[in-house]
Amino acid sequence: MKTSIATVTLSGELPDKLDAIAQAGFEGVEIFENDFLAFDGSPADVGKMASDLGLAITLFQPFRDFEGMPDALRSRTFDRAERKFDVMQELGTDMVLVCSNVSQAALGGIDRAAADFHELGERAARRGLKVGYEALAWGRYVNDHRDAWEIVRRADHPSVGLILDSFHSLARKIDINSIRSIPKEKIFIVQLADAPLIDMDLLYWSRHFRNMPGEGDLPVTEFAAAVASTGYDGYFSLEIFNDQFRGGSTRAIAADGHRSLIYLADQVRSNVETAIGVPMPSRAVVKGVGFVEFATDEDEAAELVALLKALGFRKAAVHRSKNVSLFKQGEIRILVNVDTAGFAGAAYAVHGTSAYALALVVDDANEAYRRALALDAEPFRQPVADGELQFPAIRGVGGGLIYLIDDKSPLGRFSEIDFEGVADDSDSAGAGLLRFDHIAQTVAYDEMLTWLLFYTSIFETRKTPMVDIIDPSGVVRSQAIENETGTLRLTMNGAENRRTLAGHFIAETFGSGIQHLAFSTNDIFATSKILRKQGFKPLHISQNYYDDVEARFGLDPDLTERLKAENILYDRDEHGEYFQLYSGTHGEGFFFEIVERRGYRGYGAPNAIFRIAALKRQMRPEGVPKDAV
Ligand code: MG
Ligand code: MG
Repeated sequence: MKTSIATVTLSGELPDKLDAIAQAGFEGVEIFENDFLAFDGSPADVGKMASDLGLAITLFQPFRDFEGMPDALRSRTFDRAERKFDVMQELGTDMVLVCSNVSQAALGGIDRAAADFHELGERAARRGLKVGYEALAWGRYVNDHRDAWEIVRRADHPSVGLILDSFHSLARKIDINSIRSIPKEKIFIVQLADAPLIDMDLLYWSRHFRNMPGEGDLPVTEFAAAVASTGYDGYFSLEIFNDQFRGGSTRAIAADGHRSLIYLADQVRSNVETAIGVPMPSRAVVKGVGFVEFATDEDEAAELVALLKALGFRKAAVHRSKNVSLFKQGEIRILVNVDTAGFAGAAYAVHGTSAYALALVVDDANEAYRRALALDAEPFRQPVADGELQFPAIRGVGGGLIYLIDDKSPLGRFSEIDFEGVADDSDSAGAGLLRFDHIAQTVAYDEMLTWLLFYTSIFETRKTPMVDIIDPSGVVRSQAIENETGTLRLTMNGAENRRTLAGHFIAETFGSGIQHLAFSTNDIFATSKILRKQGFKPLHISQNYYDDVEARFGLDPDLTERLKAENILYDRDEHGEYFQLYSGTHGEGFFFEIVERRGYRGYGAPNAIFRIAALKRQMRPEGVPKDAV
């Protein structure tokens, strides 16, 4: 796949945009006229910047309100076109995008439009240029790529072709199979954008809410597959109008864009026989969470270990060469790393005590690693002692690590190879915790799409619809990424302001990261009783909550009493019931959760407001030094 992106997608000044686009690995760039106009330099300067960065200028855009103008305006319209051609020649691009006319003055008429394009084709050909015609979803007479194609066909000029844009076709739910019969040489370029499904004015939706393929809800893969079936082998170019992207990190958005195109090509390649996309291993199936690793120091480790023990974990092993202990319960493994050297030490220095690394058990760790790198993931490596394992690893949320392990290689036996067993030092027989139920990561709201694309493109996962969680101090957006079997469940909470609990966590820990770990049990009441005996202090839930929950679900008063006595939260969906028990916060807002699912598929979003309020009551007020409480 030849990749390109429109400058309008990114924030910043034109030179920064071009730099980020080249850095992200794109081969081409569409120069958006306003970006050029705002730049204080000649078209030739822009052309040189692009070519110095190895970028082809795939097109110059847009040229508006061209076809079907009344005679009085027609010659002026062609004069405007000639001036664009001058700029294009200086820029060093050979294609202009003409979007369908939206002017009140336009006359309509398919033959009239075709005649105008034939004439424009003649003029362009004289200068060695080409004209691409795109149907805007809100064009006055032409708002369907099938009509635009008919005009291009009737214009019958080798310098005139069609520009397809997934947003315009998919937003209007036009049958994309109509693309399959268009000759590939008449498709001059293909623009791609996705968007969340929102029922609103097409123009407003397009100008503000587009996003990268895979980030929204439109069938962009099917669109690209229809294009690929024609044999089209030109550029796929991202043209994304999105307020958040235009205010976001230029480099991060460009990198997301490149990842989205590689992922799209991979999906298309596995569906139809096509040359687009580089072969890579398929999305990695996650069989479970191998371990979660905390970085901490000796002092804070004591508090964390006490909490783990109260939760029924026992210390099972110690690392052979590093200051790392392994705690175990059921299938859950937690590493506590107090090593000052290496990445864990650096993570602690920056973030304080934090769950900075996560190991995912996949079918084949090396294949998963290969796929991740093909999708622009950042590899991670640090020296290991002789005889110890080098985990394939990539950087994840907040710069933390994702280790990839499997059962077929020695990686699966890391707890014997890198660790040495120790005698059970606790008198606890455990609290019935079985495995990780979910891992909750808190990120800045504008990073949510980045990580959504990251997880869904590398791993066999799907996203659930985004829900709003009302924090007493603002709204937190929450979205889950999970696999079919429930062996991987990640929730992502996006914080917009630092007064929310999620926002506070990001501010105080200097970045995004894992904010809570949820473990599953088969009997939350039995677990809760054991925990209490072991000194675990559950998060105290407001008693008013229980009156409401009893009324809302028509609960048996006996059950309500038991829930209340144990501070257990309750929810229900069409599949079953859900029980949640929380710890208080540790450090700057990290906490543990214990859940029992009786068929339930969600994450207790309706309870989040009560949990957040309770956690906030427990936490020190903002600005008060830790020692003062
Ligand atoms: Mg477009
Ligand atoms: Mg949770």
